[in-house]
Amino acid sequence: PEYISVSNLGDALGVKLNVFLRQLEDLGFEDITEESIMTGETAALVAQEYGFEPTVDSGEKVDLKPRPPPEDPSVLPPRPPVVTIMGHVDHGKTTLLDYLRKSSVAASEHGGITQHIGAFSVKLSAGKQITFLDTPGHAAFLSMRQRGANVTDIVILVVAADDSVKPQTIEALKHARAAKVPIIVAINKVDKEEARVDLVKSDLAKNGVEIEDYGGDVQTVLVSGRTGQGMQDLEESILSLSEVLDLRAEEDGMAEGWVLESSVKSIGRAATVLVKRGTLRRGDYIVAGEVFAKIRVMLSEGGVELEEAPPGTPVEILGWRDLPDAGDQVLQAPDEDKAKNAIDYRRELSERGEAVSQMAQQELERRERE
Ligand code: GDP
Ligand code: MG
Repeated sequence: PEYISVSNLGDALGVKLNVFLRQLEDLGFEDITEESIMTGETAALVAQEYGFEPTVDSGEKVDLKPRPPPEDPSVLPPRPPVVTIMGHVDHGKTTLLDYLRKSSVAASEHGGITQHIGAFSVKLSAGKQITFLDTPGHAAFLSMRQRGANVTDIVILVVAADDSVKPQTIEALKHARAAKVPIIVAINKVDKEEARVDLVKSDLAKNGVEIEDYGGDVQTVLVSGRTGQGMQDLEESILSLSEVLDLRAEEDGMAEGWVLESSVKSIGRAATVLVKRGTLRRGDYIVAGEVFAKIRVMLSEGGVELEEAPPGTPVEILGWRDLPDAGDQVLQAPDEDKAKNAIDYRRELSERGEAVSQMAQQELERRERE
């Protein structure tokens, strides 16, 4: 508040009113009563006399929060599935992603020049679309899960037909299960003479994967990232699983998403954001962690400027005041004030958190010394 009454100030400082009035006179105030009004500045000086370190409050700080989940998701428009490819090293993750990326319409429309922005969308016939994350490996998946991000809808588990199930295959399985994300197995490298598809299937079954051939519901698709064999089947499997999952999201309202990657490029601070709810537009304000952006430019993975990014769309966003971190949740703010306000709130909170953990640390050290 900019003004405060003497009685309220006395209360705030914990001094009895008659004592407070006498002490104010001692400090040089004249004709002071309990109803006298002081400016915030004067009150701050008085408070200092009482050993307080007042801070000026510039108004209430409020954080931004994601919207509550939709009451009836079944009435919302469908959204593209978000797919992560996992598997043992050298089993063909990069090769498969490269093949899929090249098959995307966006790539062929723009001379096949695509940037790596951590994700890309493959547009299929009949207006269907699949979004693939290509943030490297399991680490990104895990770090996002740790922050509560439920970014991935489907995991493609790649198993090389000439190498079968290996330690990182099992690790990937564990992650997918822990995240309750359904999998599709892509048995890769079937073009090779050494391919042993039946062995892969029985090894999968041994590891608790309930594949269709054994009466379960986990699809297995035979593919080759080298020849392209089976790649269309893989896309169809993804679409049929996403129909079962019935993925839907609001296209309106305050947008939400996640930062997949961020870096400083020649064009400025850039972050790839995967939109999960709502639609982002140029000029919108968004907050991620303790930083915000006014969206100056939105680019597709093909480097094409976009006006809109609906749910399931990965976009590279420019306009950040600082660089956000991969794994940060993105929330749209209604205006610049609300964006700044949320950031101030979060910074204060983390400073306070740091102060508390510092005190705890000192306390621990003190105890250790004793
Ligand atoms: P990652 O470590 O899982 O990303 O595996 P890569 O995509 O880097 O592939 C590892 C090696 O396997 C590379 O030499 C690829 O060329 C090769 N490779 C990947 N997919 C296939 C395939 O379908 N057939 C054959 N013959 N080789 C493949
Ligand atoms: Mg790779």
